[in-house]
Amino acid sequence: MKCTRCNSGDCIKKGIQNNKQRFYCKDCGSYFQSEYAYQAYKSGTNDFIKNLLKEGCGVRGIARVLDISKNTVLSRVLKIASQIKTPYFNKFGCKFEVDEMFIKIANGKSHNWLVYAIEQKTKSVVSFIIGNRSTETLKQVIDKVLLLNPKKIYTDRLNIYPTIIPREIHKRFQYCTNKIERMNLNLRMHIKRLSRKTICFTRNQKYLEAHLRIYFWG
Ligand SMILES: [Zn+2]
Repeated sequence: MKCTRCNSGDCIKKGIQNNKQRFYCKDCGSYFQSEYAYQAYKSGTNDFIKNLLKEGCGVRGIARVLDISKNTVLSRVLKIASQIKTPYFNKFGCKFEVDEMFIKIANGKSHNWLVYAIEQKTKSVVSFIIGNRSTETLKQVIDKVLLLNPKKIYTDRLNIYPTIIPREIHKRFQYCTNKIERMNLNLRMHIKRLSRKTICFTRNQKYLEAHLRIYFWG
C-alpha cells in the first residue's frame, strides 16, 4: 500500500476505520484508509476543484463531475481561497490599467461592480474589490496602485478617476485600456458565474470573491 500523502511504500496496517482497513505511513506519520466511501476525501479533490473553476465549470457541474455534493464544493471553494495569500507585488515604476466590470449578484441592492488593476506588461492583478461604482470603492484599488509608485495609470473616461489620481500620471485616451478590456472578456469566458446571456449568477458575494482569488492568484 502506498501512502496517499508522500507516496512512500513503507506503510503498515493499523486498525479498522469506518469498516475499511486503516494504514499508517512510517515515513510521514499519516493515517489513511484503503478506500473511502466519501468521494471528496480523496487526495487531489481540491486541485480538481481549483482547475475546474478556472475552466468555466459551475459549482453544480463540478459536483456532478467529481460525484460530490454541491455544498461540499462551495465549502471547499471558501477553504481553498482562504489559503491563498495575496501576492506581494514589488516592482516600482510600472504602468497600470484600472477598469470596472458589471457583475450580477442575486438580490444585490445596488449595482455591483468589480474594480481591479493590472500591471500592463505581465498582466498580473495587483488588487481587486467588489462594490458599487463610487469614489470610496475605486479609491481602495487606486491607493494600492499609488503605493507602487506607478509611471502611468490608464483608465476609461469615468469622471471619478481625475479626482483620485494625480494629473501627471493619469492617462485616458482611446484604446489605452485594451489589455484590461481583453482580461474582462477572459473573466467572462473562464468564470461560469460571470458569463453573460446565461442564467448563471452569484448568490452570495463571498463566493464570488473566493472564486476570483482562486482565478487571479491560485
Ligand atoms: Zn507518507
